Amino acid sequence: MIPYGRQDIQDSDIAAVLKVLQSDFLTQGPAVPKFEQSVAQHSGARHAVAVNSATSALHIALMALGVGAGDVVWTSPNTFVASSNAALYCGAGVDFVDIDPLTYNMSVTALAEKLALANQKGQLPKVLIPVHLTGQPCDMAAIYDLSQRYGVKVVEDASHAIGGRYHDQPIGNCAYSDITVFSFHPVKIVTTAEGGMALTNDDSLAEKMALYRSHGITRDPALMTHASDGPWYYQQIALGYNYRMTDLQAALGVSQMQRLDDYIKRRHDIAARYNRELSDLPLTLPAQAGYGHSAYHLYVIRLDLDAIAPLTHAQVFQSLRDRGILVNLHYIPVHIQPYYQAMGFRWGDYPQAESYYKNAISIPMYPSMSDEAQTQVIQALHEILEK
Ligand SMILES: *Cc1c(COP(=O)(O)O)cnc(C)c1O
Repeated sequence: MIPYGRQDIQDSDIAAVLKVLQSDFLTQGPAVPKFEQSVAQHSGARHAVAVNSATSALHIALMALGVGAGDVVWTSPNTFVASSNAALYCGAGVDFVDIDPLTYNMSVTALAEKLALANQKGQLPKVLIPVHLTGQPCDMAAIYDLSQRYGVKVVEDASHAIGGRYHDQPIGNCAYSDITVFSFHPVKIVTTAEGGMALTNDDSLAEKMALYRSHGITRDPALMTHASDGPWYYQQIALGYNYRMTDLQAALGVSQMQRLDDYIKRRHDIAARYNRELSDLPLTLPAQAGYGHSAYHLYVIRLDLDAIAPLTHAQVFQSLRDRGILVNLHYIPVHIQPYYQAMGFRWGDYPQAESYYKNAISIPMYPSMSDEAQTQVIQALHEILEK
């Protein structure tokens, strides 16, 4: 079996986790701040708040930005449902901006048009969540310009993109956003089993997110309503959640971060070989915008359905799976999920995301994939598509 993505766990990772298991703290110990520092340093952001998933990170990010009932958040329809569900958790509404047909990221043209129209109607969104699909950054400078013009906040969903770069700056430095979110799920670039992080350069947003991560409780006298009753004292000053990351997870993260640069390099080597050896097939290979260096979380091919007829998308997908190549599809557009259709979204609302859905396949891409496994994937695609 060749999965589409897989974690890389080495002896040093196992030793790091064992060390925590034998220590005084399984959670709320020293490993979490150490992991936060490591990711903040690598990304160039001032603050990092570790949580138990990227979904939680998106939720506390929107809470910290004050998103609530009556507000609207815009994201890409071609994303995991968590990007838009975060707005619903806050009691806000959701809307989508169609994708660019080349990069599959939020289209800047579509965004500019939609913002101009929303502005005329007095219905501007409170927050934009651009998603760096496959690890390739969105055109953040252009998105940031628009957000400044209309007074909209920006949260980057960089769940796919730790280790990637935008104009030679690390994704996560928040140069063009208020907050950036990473995921550490095992299929992503760096893993903590489950885990996420929210990065920001804004002191007050960082303070709020730290509060919402742990019940809204503080031990900081500066945040309390009156002087402390004694050394045991804490106050709940907001309604938060238990979204904390454990020290076991954080220690795994610290250990994994040491290999982040190697991971990105290996992912680029795998992509370069796919680019060479799939180039003569009836496929669209992933286009790379000049402004970015992708983290290559995913390698997405799009089938030329006219050229391969009567072979269908589903048949090619199934043939690969039948050969033990566990391809996947990222993503079913969020607006066609039944839960979202019940909110009034319809087929036809976002044609580019829908056309992507009809012919895209994510083929295996992970740093520990062997050259032989990649040969198998390439040969299978030749056999299936050259029939
Ligand atoms: C994986 C993913 C998430 C959610 O991450 P979790 O850590 O599993 O909560 C959110 N957005 C995108 C784009 C993702 O790929």
